[in-house]
Amino acid sequence: MTQFFNAAEGGHISREDWVRVAHKHGVACFNDAAADVPPIANLWNYTAMGFDLVAFSGGKGIRGPQCTGLLLGKKDLIDGAVLNNSPYSNTVGRGMKVGKEEIIGFVAAVDWFREQDDAAMEAEFRKRAGVIAERVKTVPSVQARVFIPPVANHVPHLLITYDTNRVKLTATEVMQKMREGTPRIELNPSTGGGPASAGLPGGNNVIVVGVWMLQPGEDQIVATRLQEVLAGAAK
Ligand SMILES: *Cc1c(COP(=O)(O)O)cnc(C)c1O
Repeated sequence: MTQFFNAAEGGHISREDWVRVAHKHGVACFNDAAADVPPIANLWNYTAMGFDLVAFSGGKGIRGPQCTGLLLGKKDLIDGAVLNNSPYSNTVGRGMKVGKEEIIGFVAAVDWFREQDDAAMEAEFRKRAGVIAERVKTVPSVQARVFIPPVANHVPHLLITYDTNRVKLTATEVMQKMREGTPRIELNPSTGGGPASAGLPGGNNVIVVGVWMLQPGEDQIVATRLQEVLAGAAK
């Protein structure tokens, strides 16, 4: 089986060419699309394109239980995958087992996700980013803008930058302080990183806030705490 995934998007082989060449040689095609929703339509775009198997993370854009995922595609291949799940306990799949409670939770998440609307989700994420941006911009030198990673996790994130001469903390230190507060808040792992993954810019004065996993109202909590941490180091 061949494996495609979205990091190849900047490359020279399109998904369509990938499928065509593999099938010409009689090889099945798997697309690891873990981080490829939204848009919601990607749930069926890739199988329609001809991929034999397509996997989505349950805990990313679909926002279901973290240990779940969705495997779509040809019945014979799905049947093969099922042989690694209960009741076939003594298989390589045991270490990755998913409980029945989580499966039910994930089915509910898929139902919920299919009723959502791409534009409405984007508007909501922009609104949350705006709430946080307004608060942190009160701190000297802090700038904030919405950033949509071009490939994976293709939704609005908040990108915050500042002058480290004016705010005497590195982004990594900000991340640590956010973890130590109550409640604990985890910033996007691209925060303070090198030229970061997933198309997010890096740098020791760069903070990335993922707003899409927040519950309603939590944007206010993040805004208050982030403003407090930045303002506390400002001069
Ligand atoms: C996130 C991601 C994974 C892991 O998915 P999980 O099911 O959330 O652990 C695998 N492959 C790619 C390309 C991803 O982006």
